[in-house]
Amino acid sequence: MPTQQTSVIVGGGLAGAKAAETLREEGFDGRMVIVAAEPERPYERPPLSKEYLRGEAGREKVYVHEEAYYADHDIELRLGRSAVDLDPEGRRLTLDDGEAIAYDRLLLTTGAEPRRLPIPGADLDGVLLLRTVADSDALRARLDAGGSAVVVGAGWIGSEVAASARQRGLEVTVVEPLSVPLERVLGPEVGAVYRDIHADHGVRMLTGTGVEAFEGDGAVERVRTTDGQELACDFVVVGVGVEPRTRLAEQAGIATGNGVLVDEHLQTDAPGVFAAGDVANARHPLYAERLRVEHWANALHQGPVAARAMLGGRDSYDLVPYFFSDQYDVGMEYAGYAPDWDRVVFRGDPATREFIAFWLSGDRVLAGMNVNVWDVSDTIQALIRARVPVDDGRLADPDVPLEELGPAGG
Ligand SMILES: Cc1cc2nc3c(=O)[nH]c(=O)nc-3n(C[C@H](O)[C@H](O)[C@H](O)COP(=O)(O)OP(=O)(O)OC[C@H]3O[C@@H](n4cnc5c(N)ncnc54)[C@H](O)[C@@H]3O)c2cc1C
Repeated sequence: MPTQQTSVIVGGGLAGAKAAETLREEGFDGRMVIVAAEPERPYERPPLSKEYLRGEAGREKVYVHEEAYYADHDIELRLGRSAVDLDPEGRRLTLDDGEAIAYDRLLLTTGAEPRRLPIPGADLDGVLLLRTVADSDALRARLDAGGSAVVVGAGWIGSEVAASARQRGLEVTVVEPLSVPLERVLGPEVGAVYRDIHADHGVRMLTGTGVEAFEGDGAVERVRTTDGQELACDFVVVGVGVEPRTRLAEQAGIATGNGVLVDEHLQTDAPGVFAAGDVANARHPLYAERLRVEHWANALHQGPVAARAMLGGRDSYDLVPYFFSDQYDVGMEYAGYAPDWDRVVFRGDPATREFIAFWLSGDRVLAGMNVNVWDVSDTIQALIRARVPVDDGRLADPDVPLEELGPAGG
């Protein structure tokens, strides 16, 4: 009988890499294996639509750890290998080459994959998705070649790709069925700010229309929209959201539903199996419901919480959701969770592109976004967490320090 414990991490993204780091930091001295379908050691994805895509940052910038880190910490990397079968009762994981690994604790960090559009021409050459560094390399080659691009979907990925392509001098048309970019998260008022930013940079923004087909002889040559327009292009980038990769968990009989269902300690309903990052739909103590967050900070912080849970810790993951985006010279941070709100209050004029927007329900702040205003996100997060009543006038007044609106100042 082996006396050494084995921890296995399925998925070599940010959540998996940070979990591995924490396991060692917290003193886990057993066997550790990361199974990663991509041929790269764990890396971070945000640069793939920004500086890496534009060729302003090299490959070394994206990795979570130096190459030697894994050997130095006795972490076995199985790169380019997929886990295909998980048996939680027998505590056994099988890889695509038949290798079986017995484990004591297993963490699912299988992430998410881009949705494809189920329309004619979706498989034509030049219809691109963006998730991996290989995808970003392929897209960068298209940017290098120049010409014109159609971006389908003005969510975060689509908006950032449109910005990067414009910055590289391409002609860019964005097709978005909603009325403004990023409408689902930001709503019409703040989404309009982003519409204007793109328009100012020369992006042709076709909102309120969808895509019916991609057409071309072997390679995409044009996009046909649902309102009958034909858009000639050299390539297309589809950014219409992602789906959590739950197949392994589902096949193992682990509870899923918009991701792998986990409690606030990131534990699944299968003993010894945990989940973190984009794939985890985790009970959130602050909101008393499950949230699945598809953002960098969530992967960064959930990985360590899951690792501590694997070692028997009882930390809860209760951070206010947070993400950032950079488009042209406009940087932003958004914190909070606002599925519905009744009004938006601005501190500063959105037209100057240096402002804070707050989403409120009743007299509580649900979310806040600082645009080209820095070092305020922690204070905004404290305000959201405190759930104290706030006055719209004081919230909007730049002379009232945000700290005064929070729990201590209120
Ligand atoms: C282009 C791009 C830009 C982004 N920009 C931002 C940003 O500006 N701000 C922000 O907050 N967030 C951003 N994000 C989101 C952020 O990158 C993700 O939230 C984060 O990558 C999630 O990390 P993860 O480890 O949970 O999953 P992932 O990064 O998806 O990693 C999961 C890994 O698991 C592997 N895997 C899956 N199934 C298996 C299996 N069965 N066996 C073995 N391996 C498997 C996958 O191949 C993948 O490598 C961006 C994402 C992309 C794609």
